[in-house]
Amino acid sequence: MQRAPHRLVDAFESKLEPLEAEFHRAYWDSQVHASPENDRRRAELELELRSLKGDATFLAGVTEALAEELHDPLLRRQLQVLRLALTADQMTDAQREELVELSSSVESDFATFRAEVDCESLSENEILEILETSSDSARSERAWRASKELGGRVAERVRELARLRNHAALALGYPDHYGMALDLQEISEEWLFKLFDELEELTREPFLRWKAGLDEALSNRFGTKHLRPWHYADPFFQYQPRSATVDLDHLFGDGAAVRLAQGTFGSWGIDIGGVLERSDLFPRQMKSQHAFCLDVDRSGRDVRILANIVPGERWVEVMLHECGHAAYDVSIDGKLPYLLREPAHTFVTEAVAILSGRLTRDPEWLVNVAGVSPGEVDPLAQELARSSAIQSILFARWVLVMAHFERALYADPEADLEAIWWDLVQRFQFVQGPEDEVPGVWAAKVHVASAPVYYHNYLLGELLASQLMETMRARVGGVLAGTAAGDLLREYLMKPGNSLRWDTLIQDATGAPLSPHAFAAEVAL
Ligand SMILES: [Zn+2]
Repeated sequence: MQRAPHRLVDAFESKLEPLEAEFHRAYWDSQVHASPENDRRRAELELELRSLKGDATFLAGVTEALAEELHDPLLRRQLQVLRLALTADQMTDAQREELVELSSSVESDFATFRAEVDCESLSENEILEILETSSDSARSERAWRASKELGGRVAERVRELARLRNHAALALGYPDHYGMALDLQEISEEWLFKLFDELEELTREPFLRWKAGLDEALSNRFGTKHLRPWHYADPFFQYQPRSATVDLDHLFGDGAAVRLAQGTFGSWGIDIGGVLERSDLFPRQMKSQHAFCLDVDRSGRDVRILANIVPGERWVEVMLHECGHAAYDVSIDGKLPYLLREPAHTFVTEAVAILSGRLTRDPEWLVNVAGVSPGEVDPLAQELARSSAIQSILFARWVLVMAHFERALYADPEADLEAIWWDLVQRFQFVQGPEDEVPGVWAAKVHVASAPVYYHNYLLGELLASQLMETMRARVGGVLAGTAAGDLLREYLMKPGNSLRWDTLIQDATGAPLSPHAFAAEVAL
């Protein structure tokens, strides 16, 4: 009886595995060196991959197989994973081509964009530097506006992407792409937004208290009471201004990011040396300015990181974060079938990454891994805990902007998106938008175009990171409790890959369902 479903899975896997690896290589090439050829190749392979997943007959077979009684849980899970993956790509060839072409063109603009400020072409790192350090309101405004210019350039294409995605979702019986994407991520929209309402409540007071102090400092620095988005250092106000927190940049010079990533994961008994060797870690022209981790073939032997490391805390944090993803990828049980050799959920791998990234503000890590003297760290301990809590709160509120915005975008792509954007920024971040228009301001975040319906995963990841840290403290004595801590992450969380659905996995790994409790305890100031 069960031979047929097995054959179905095997047949698909044998096509998927080589194609996915080839696509990943092409994707990597297009990010480390943007060129028309690399972009074209990447788009072609993406199309091929999506067209393979778009096979309607195959999906019908999978759905039929799932209706049967299947006694092998791994086979059942593979079919479930397949059903979710295939459903997302059900559309006509013409639709698929248009979608891939559009999103590739937007991403390629993001990869090559350099903002022009005062006749100078600047990288993202350079823009950030102006926003962090300038006391000249007009110059900050010019830098901020320049960083949003790309949004105006791509906005119409991103709107069209939303229409196309909606069109496909509608044909499958979903109200829009947002609802479909969540469903295919095994997340209930009702559950998610109820959780977000709780988080909005939970973080409001501490956020406002902290922001009142920040606003006062910024008003003094810029000599104005009328604070606008460009005064808040980060172009999206998703990070604390360096001026408002303990500055640790002097602790992290050249070479720190790579060395400390290796040291951290080494202390957990997770070897990421091979990952770092295959990675592309430093800034260059024509290279994506962001950071990501890519598992090329799910063998655990070709995991790579793209980064743009410059000295300072930020890129140490980013490297720890990306190495958290890499650690997950290399820790998945190699004996699992291909389809299950991936993280259980986007937000579960985000949780490991976030937990790792948070370490730069952990006094124990600063002393034991980064080698800073206790005499320097101890007096900062309280302030570090406070700034970590603030960062989590600030980030949570930024994610609320993004998640609510995306839901609104797909609910009505024709709406006045700029107005919706500023309403949400006002509601969650308490920042007032500029008086005049900033065309396409909402499209200046690359995720809106290239990682649709993804951002909520960062906040779920924050919650899970806190829950995991709580579990590690209770069971092995702390996050940095050597290989015991690493083993806990590896054995219970990462090794099972996608053989378990995220809710079962989290219950197994932490002894409780995902909840905001541990996060709430951490951010209570
Ligand atoms: Zn991440």
